[in-house]
Amino acid sequence: MPSPANPEGQLIMARSHLDQLLGAITRRGFRLIGPTVRDGAIVYDEISSSADLPAGWTDEQDGGRYRLRRRGDDALFGYNVGPQSPKRYLFPPSSLLSRVRSEDGLSFTAAGEPDAAPLAFMGVRSCELHAIAIQDRVFLGGRHVDPVYSGRREGAFIVAVNCGQAGGTCFCVSMQTGPRAQAGFDLALTELLDAGRHEFLVEIGTARGAEVMSEVACRGALAVDTEAADQIIQRTAASMGRQMDTGGIKDLLYENFEHPRWEDVAGRCLACGNCTMACPTCFCFSVENVSDLTGTQAELHRSWDSCFTMDHSYLHGGAVRVTNRSRYRQWMTHKLATWIDQYGSSGCVGCGRCITWCPVGIDITEEVAAIRADGAMAGGPDGATQPEPAGPAAQEGQTHDA
Ligand code: SF4
Ligand code: SF4
Repeated sequence: MPSPANPEGQLIMARSHLDQLLGAITRRGFRLIGPTVRDGAIVYDEISSSADLPAGWTDEQDGGRYRLRRRGDDALFGYNVGPQSPKRYLFPPSSLLSRVRSEDGLSFTAAGEPDAAPLAFMGVRSCELHAIAIQDRVFLGGRHVDPVYSGRREGAFIVAVNCGQAGGTCFCVSMQTGPRAQAGFDLALTELLDAGRHEFLVEIGTARGAEVMSEVACRGALAVDTEAADQIIQRTAASMGRQMDTGGIKDLLYENFEHPRWEDVAGRCLACGNCTMACPTCFCFSVENVSDLTGTQAELHRSWDSCFTMDHSYLHGGAVRVTNRSRYRQWMTHKLATWIDQYGSSGCVGCGRCITWCPVGIDITEEVAAIRADGAMAGGPDGATQPEPAGPAAQEGQTHDA
């Protein structure tokens, strides 16, 4: 018999009852997105039951390296973050902004998908919750609300998972974004798995989460359960694969705009843009007009863009950032410094994806440490210490960087 949920308390749900939770979510009309194994990685995709989750799989991550490996148990969430994040669904890689047809008069279709099922995310990590909060500020927080993002974000149901282990490239502790999920979820799970049990400690974040849990067989958590969960999260926090000293980082980067390390990293960077595609907070996009051959229909599409491409900084007949040096510097300085001026927080949540998925293993924590090791330098030869502005619209009037 399902036991009544207590919004104030924490619950224990057996692994065998996880499908009751998934069923309670899908019965409410949600499209369920969760982690699953595909193409040698753990990615977010549509799932229908717990059988789709990556049971018994884990990942090994380092600079430029990602491998799946079997675990010695049946953990469902015993891995770290994969190449994708909820960004892929909330801010899709490509989307239709508008369509104009000229048959039988003009007709317009604006952006947004009013008939689409609301999204429910399963297995969202703490760093990803912080990344969603950052993209909320970008897409919803200004004067112009993004209709594609808001249509997908509004009403999205989120089941978070507290990380049971740290990945080789994780540094959420340095960024104060994990590993414990603290806000922004409807439910948060901690997987409790040993020889004698396979259960989840369930923390309820919203009334909606409590209502869903009222349909799931569970019991109230005991002190011994919450202590076990706390120990798992503390062990994860103590075993981060990377760390970053963020003290005074904004000024550090502003004062080192001409540091020789930018040239050093430019010699390794391929300007492939993988880091920006994998990053859960990067939000740049480009728009393109497409018309059909008969000339009766025109569509405006947008797709993810990267500040590592030449075209990204193209203005008035030339690119503003023509060198890898200026592009890497723009990306890292925006993430860690100008983002703070723009949005009041760092643009980095310490997920480590840009390190893992960089084909040459460039490591943002290592680049910061290298600049910090030399101490603050004066600005460039002309004494300028201003960073490049954060977005294309802010780049008007800049000189070319050769
Ligand atoms: S900059 Fe790198 S570590 Fe930071 S949020 Fe983006 S992908 Fe993750
Ligand atoms: S830092 Fe790495 S992933 Fe990013 S553009 Fe350069 S080579 Fe590609």
